[in-house]
Amino acid sequence: MDSRLEGIRDTVLARNPGEKEFHQAVIEVFESLGPVHDRHPEFLEGAVLERLCEPERQIIFRVPWTDDAGRVHVNRGFRVEFNSALGPYKGGLRFHPSVYLGIVKFLGFEQIFKNALTGMPIGGGKGGSDFDPRGRSDAEIMRFCQSFMTELYRHIGEYTDVPAGDIGVGGREIGYLFGQYKRITNRYESGVLTGKGISWGGSLVRPEATGYGTVIFAQEMLKTRGQSFDGQRVVVSGSGNVAIHAIAKAQSLGATVVACSDSAGYVVDEAGIDVELLRHIKEVERGRLTEYAARRGGATHVTGGSVWDVNGTVALPCATQNELDGDAAAKLVSNGLIAVAEGANMPSTREAVSVFHEAGILFGPGKAANAGGVATSALEMQQNASRDSWSFEHTEQRLTEIMVGIHDRCAATADEYGAPGNYVVGANIGGFVKVADAMLAQGLI
Ligand code: NDP
Repeated sequence: MDSRLEGIRDTVLARNPGEKEFHQAVIEVFESLGPVHDRHPEFLEGAVLERLCEPERQIIFRVPWTDDAGRVHVNRGFRVEFNSALGPYKGGLRFHPSVYLGIVKFLGFEQIFKNALTGMPIGGGKGGSDFDPRGRSDAEIMRFCQSFMTELYRHIGEYTDVPAGDIGVGGREIGYLFGQYKRITNRYESGVLTGKGISWGGSLVRPEATGYGTVIFAQEMLKTRGQSFDGQRVVVSGSGNVAIHAIAKAQSLGATVVACSDSAGYVVDEAGIDVELLRHIKEVERGRLTEYAARRGGATHVTGGSVWDVNGTVALPCATQNELDGDAAAKLVSNGLIAVAEGANMPSTREAVSVFHEAGILFGPGKAANAGGVATSALEMQQNASRDSWSFEHTEQRLTEIMVGIHDRCAATADEYGAPGNYVVGANIGGFVKVADAMLAQGLI
């Protein structure tokens, strides 16, 4: 790391003790930014990095709710409004028992640069709760969402902060959250949340966008080496929203996706994952992958273990942070890997990223490769603002153009800063410069 940034890093780490995922995200960005400060001394003079690492606002609140037996539970809710230099805070809500301030801050910090890379007018934010939706009834989910929004509503708005989904928050939860916002405010403010249902202000392609976008980004990386998805053997982690649509898109481009996972294990299906069966089990039945293996001839389920033990030429980590470590990366490389695109946020550890770079693997970091989700959320906001709704084809075309644009900007920025082919450098510098310029232009706020 550039010695001028080490002191700033040490201060950020000391001011945010115990938030290891936030530390990891900050260090990863700082490691790319030395050359930027050679060209832009004004960023150091204006203390841009110090300001960028301190969220503009952090909200932590109590979320009381009752289960179906009438028992009272108390969870913790978070919304970190990180940076609004480019537009209203924008970023999802995560409901998972692992959520604490450090996770929300790492996600919010990454979101600033990701949103800048999309070229859309959106700032960075993130939120969520340590609530565990697994095994909860629809009525319990609804009561939790209503209680969560009863506090959150006062902090958000179409021009202020626009949440969306993430792990544990999909169309059902966005529906309950939107309903409660409308009830409290007496406003049909479509642009306050994205990921809405199609008949009440949502955008076509939003459910597919993150997974599709990740595959489009990977396809652009492959093209730089004269390759494509056609004939690739793909391994995907996760089996939620991002994973399902990444699998569908990769297979539509001629790849065979041979494995996917959930938190209990993984399935191997050499014939290629049956996406409709997977979608039905996961989204309709809200079931487990063991049921996929039970119903699909030829597929096997492995309990525990790591999906990265399965060999593939392309890996798409689409589950959660730090799910792919240095050992897993080395194994994938020795098994013939050529490309990785991150559908999840920060799924590869720093050691894993080093292994990929040293082996010359094409590596697309999440803040670039999975930006299609938030970009399509911004398209949903555009449709809401103009009270319009676009066709699937038009919206998918916009998504494709945005992803190709992000790929090309990352590649060009990496070239410009002397790191050709390094999409981590390209994404970090490309996103940072845009936000830093806007922050300086808006004065010391
Ligand atoms: P979902 O809740 O739909 O699916 C998450 C998947 O990951 C599930 O299969 C889940 O398994 C698995 N998973 C979650 N946590 C863990 C864990 N600790 N260990 C192992 N497996 C785990 O979430 P999404 O698909 O929406 O999100 C996946 C990733 O993509 C996240 O990193 C998210 O931040 C990122 N992302 C999502 C976007 C979106 O538009 N939804 C946009 C950009 C990034 P199980 O069901 O067993 O818990």
